[in-house]
Amino acid sequence: MLCDPIQSRRLFEHALDNNYAILAANADSHAAVTDCLKAAKLCDAPLIIETSLWQLEGHSYGAGDAIRGLARYIADLAVLADSPEYRSIPVVLHTDHIKGPETMEILSAAIRGIPVTITGNSTTLRASTVSLDASEFSDEENIAAISRLAAIAVESNVDVTLEMESAVDEGITPEEVTRNLIGSVEEKYPNAVCLYAPGLGTRHGFSAEGYPEFNSETVQRNIRMLKEITGRDIGLALHGSSGLSSGDLRDAAQAGVVKVNWSTESLMIRSRGAMTFYEDNAAKLDRSHGDWKVTAMDNGVQSHISPAYVDKVSERMRIINSEGKASDFAQTPGA
Ligand SMILES: [Zn+2]
Repeated sequence: MLCDPIQSRRLFEHALDNNYAILAANADSHAAVTDCLKAAKLCDAPLIIETSLWQLEGHSYGAGDAIRGLARYIADLAVLADSPEYRSIPVVLHTDHIKGPETMEILSAAIRGIPVTITGNSTTLRASTVSLDASEFSDEENIAAISRLAAIAVESNVDVTLEMESAVDEGITPEEVTRNLIGSVEEKYPNAVCLYAPGLGTRHGFSAEGYPEFNSETVQRNIRMLKEITGRDIGLALHGSSGLSSGDLRDAAQAGVVKVNWSTESLMIRSRGAMTFYEDNAAKLDRSHGDWKVTAMDNGVQSHISPAYVDKVSERMRIINSEGKASDFAQTPGA
């Protein structure tokens, strides 16, 4: 079931209350989306699918037009997530790492909804939750941008659930920065921000030496501080999880991380899977070979990649304690 902004917010609260995190897979293709849903179904785990500017503008989705890409991404995901096979799995569609001059235009569309017409029937496609890439913003620019997104929702009379981030690759975010960022938005737009991504000592990409700065006490301290500032229970989003050990991931979920972003390792598994498929089957890609068509078709390479990828996604879902939580969430009021 593809969640709306309010269902998504309840799901994050459920994760925080029950000491688990939800895997947020940056799914780079239609096939990756399918495999993430397969893993979620296998684990009975909620799932966040993230899409970033590079997919929205990329060849498989928007082909140069990010808003068209977002509509295509949501439509594809909605068909799958609301199909009988996957309806029991709560799925959140989150916009991640949107940056650059088109940011507000893309995110306004994600919040208000993108009108589409399918054989004469009109509908509106909305993201479940929204964040932007604040890595090049000052704190004041970050506050202004998040406040603007909250204002767009108010003006359009729609719900919004936002993630706010702070210099996620630059060490541990100082307490006064969090107080300023979250406090300033909360004052004007209470309840809009429901996920916070502070710097926790991790970084995007792989890390050979791990992240010695990462510590679940930092997570707990942030959760306490967010409660003090807003009066609400707000869970954390963890960026840069690919280089984190299983033990640290488990502790993070236990301590209050509710969303674990996962992208680098996902790309590596899929691209290496494709490489071995084409290497192993190079001789079949010859017109004289009886299997050349089944080898050449997209289904060939994607079916080869799928088992190892589904295994890895399932493994991460188990590490962050989300196994069985889709059914648990379905039993909560308002799910
Ligand atoms: Zn990130």
